[in-house]
Amino acid sequence: MSRPFTQPTVVADRLDAGLRALAGLVEPGRPGWTRTALGEVDRDARELVRRWMADAGMETRVDGAGNVVGRLRGTGSGRTIMLGSHTDTVVGGGRFDGTVGVVGALEVVRALRESGRRLEHDLVVVDFFDEEPNEFGLSCVGSRAMVGELTREHLEMHDEEGRTLADALARVGVDPGAALTARADLSDVDVFVELHIEQGPYLEQQGASIGLVESITGISRFRALFSGRADHAGTTPMDVRRDAGCAAAGTVLAVERIAGEGALTKGTSGAVTFTPAAVNVVTATAEFRGEFRGPEAEWLRHAQDRLTAAAQEEGERRQVGVDVEWLPLQEPAPMAPGVLGTLTGVVDALGLSASRLFSGAEHDAAVLARSVPTGMLFVPSRDGRSHCPEEWTDLDDIAAGVTALLHSVLALDEGGVR
Ligand SMILES: [Zn+2]
Repeated sequence: MSRPFTQPTVVADRLDAGLRALAGLVEPGRPGWTRTALGEVDRDARELVRRWMADAGMETRVDGAGNVVGRLRGTGSGRTIMLGSHTDTVVGGGRFDGTVGVVGALEVVRALRESGRRLEHDLVVVDFFDEEPNEFGLSCVGSRAMVGELTREHLEMHDEEGRTLADALARVGVDPGAALTARADLSDVDVFVELHIEQGPYLEQQGASIGLVESITGISRFRALFSGRADHAGTTPMDVRRDAGCAAAGTVLAVERIAGEGALTKGTSGAVTFTPAAVNVVTATAEFRGEFRGPEAEWLRHAQDRLTAAAQEEGERRQVGVDVEWLPLQEPAPMAPGVLGTLTGVVDALGLSASRLFSGAEHDAAVLARSVPTGMLFVPSRDGRSHCPEEWTDLDDIAAGVTALLHSVLALDEGGVR
């Protein structure tokens, strides 16, 4: 006979208090709610999360890659259910991206403990280190390390001043050598579930309070370099110019054109530089970075070929040299059908209105999905806004999402993943 227990219940006030506490830890003098992973304040936030985990009765540790990991022992199946998200932000970000998943997972632990209900599984909660893209261009640093995908090449990535990611990690107390070997044995993990804000307008448009994620976007990023010739802006005839800026501009428009042809596909360009930075000189060299996103790897590869061809055409027309350098493709990550099925059943049983959707934002769940059966729940974002100070999700919606997470954990503990 097991000990009697009351039904575990999510307490919205505790969620609110947790989110407010994290919102109070921001980098001084920076816009919005800024807590970048390679800044000093993020370290305080992760230590706060570790203390919360300990107070909730979990065994805690910080792994070699800066991930804060809490474990609530189960009754001894030897199997694990893992939850988690991140507490770092983009510069000028909001209060809910990532934090909802960490505070929510902690609330699941508190609700379970308070009710006296014990899971068969161990319940692990992770606050993943550096999910947002850092100034070196790498995202999901902690989750990559956890699944063994952080490489020496990653650590050698450098910013514009030539500093390396390894140096930056060391400055915030993450030993780069330890990060490289922080791969966790995940063979006991039956399932990983991440709760997150949608960061887009779909759920609000649908009038749904829960999003059931079917897959997470693939991403293909590139750097394009154009080498032309500096010439006098007033005397050089248009038809003999080798204007690298015009070739770059044509390629930026090709990104928009190619991405605009699909329903869920996206294409974005940024970090454009023309050299020399002058209006009275024909641009000698131009550079920009761009990306495509979409649910299908095949489309991403096709988009790569088309964009490279478009850039070459733009260059040839102007006798401008072109070099398009593609970073390794991040494959789209479908969520495990068994986990999605369980989450769907739970949300239905709770009577919550839900919609299935595709995530155009990347998440730690996409990294974990390559090693562990993974599912993801979304809660709505007001006006679809995110990565900005206006980012907002109502407390009622957050509480509903955490309730769905709690009941998903109970269902997964009883039934496992089918
Ligand atoms: Zn996030």
